[in-house]
Amino acid sequence: MTGEKRAKHQRPTTRSWAEPFKIKMIEPIKMMTREEREKSIAKSGYNTFLLDSEDVYIDLLTDSGTSAMSDRQWAALMMGDEAYAGSRNFYNMVETIQEYYGYKFVVPTHQGRGAEHILSQSMIKEGDYVPGNMYFTTTKFHQEHAGGKFVDIIIDEAHKATSSCLFKGNVDLEKLDKLVKEVGADKIPYVSLETNVNMAGGQPVSMKNMKELSEYCRKHGIAVMLDATRAIENAYFIKTREEGYADRTIASLLKEICSYTDGATMSAKKDGLVNIGGFLAINDEELFVKAKNMVVVYEGLHTYGGMAGRDMEALAQGIREAVDYDYISYRVKQVQYIGEKLEDWGIPIVTPVGGHAIYLDAKRFLPHIAQKDFPAQRLAAALYVESGVRTMERGIVSAGRNAETGENYHPELELVRLTFPRRVYTQSHCDIIAESVADLYDKRDEIKGLKMVYEPENLRFFQARFELL
Ligand SMILES: *Cc1c(COP(=O)(O)O)cnc(C)c1O
Repeated sequence: MTGEKRAKHQRPTTRSWAEPFKIKMIEPIKMMTREEREKSIAKSGYNTFLLDSEDVYIDLLTDSGTSAMSDRQWAALMMGDEAYAGSRNFYNMVETIQEYYGYKFVVPTHQGRGAEHILSQSMIKEGDYVPGNMYFTTTKFHQEHAGGKFVDIIIDEAHKATSSCLFKGNVDLEKLDKLVKEVGADKIPYVSLETNVNMAGGQPVSMKNMKELSEYCRKHGIAVMLDATRAIENAYFIKTREEGYADRTIASLLKEICSYTDGATMSAKKDGLVNIGGFLAINDEELFVKAKNMVVVYEGLHTYGGMAGRDMEALAQGIREAVDYDYISYRVKQVQYIGEKLEDWGIPIVTPVGGHAIYLDAKRFLPHIAQKDFPAQRLAAALYVESGVRTMERGIVSAGRNAETGENYHPELELVRLTFPRRVYTQSHCDIIAESVADLYDKRDEIKGLKMVYEPENLRFFQARFELL
């Protein structure tokens, strides 16, 4: 061998890692040409939510309900007890939630927003304030729909695209204290605490911060309600980043996180490793009775809440698998793997990279497009045309309008989210994703903005339509 060849095949100094599972069943994906993709994105009004999934090569739209279930979960489906009332799967699910999350009572819902609806209607009164560590679309909608006003109390660092802060999801207790002094604790039914804050880029909250928040709120008689959607991913970051937690199991960290709160809403479609499902879990019995009265009207009987028996069984199994260290470390490392590549290549992304997604910073990727011309929306559409990779906008379109003034919000962060389904794509897919983004970055000057031609009233990012400027 020549010296040059030998250099090419040098052994790496560290061992690679690989997926902690093997493939038992496959789902073929359709390969399309660029011309076909150009047609389908135009037909979809340059909104990736309106694309047919058939026309997508690698789908990073969301990690919601897109996970691959394990053989044990598929087996659990066969154990479905599809009785209208009192299904054994319900009791198994409740016991599993009590065991791993530690709350006393569980109300099943069809997905996360069903739980948010019930919690908001049960706890928020007209004129209340609901402070939270950054908004999430459906969470904030339900809080405001119930008459509350969302107040952002996340640390300033979270609104910066690049930072070295390892817990960008933390609550700023001074911001909370300022609000309490301004409006009074009796106007604050609860603090809405999200773990691995989605809109900040999947950024964790430290255990220390949660402990301090809990102490503050207990002192002032304010409840803390957890958005537990990605609490297990958050637990992984605490284990690997926060001093004093390295030896703890993911399960024990999850339980400790929940212990600082009074209840939780959960989208089981994320951490729960299932395709549909959710729940509200709480410790207060009075609230539980209220929630059970509501669930029968909006979701289904209080022993299924919109889920089939088999879904509840698969969720119980999913929770047990999700707290497995090998699984969760693979999950987060896959995202970090792409993040490191993009950072090495000088592509502007939100840093540090979070747990479930890579966020391209559209303001720096496309500095020539003004925010009013929807740079992130445009970037998501362009990436689809370039490679068939489907992503979504998290910027001015998602932020929507101020309900009182009707003005557009202009969020600091104008991002495109590449969200990773759990256990679905391999490391080779990851290489293609990173290379596709890099190819598009080389051609970024050719990309122009968009104008919105249809704007739905609620959660506009789902259905808005655009045309090229
Ligand atoms: C997905 C999500 C929700 C809403 O859950 P759905 O199951 O989509 O209704 C709420 N909060 C966060 C942080 C989420 O990521």
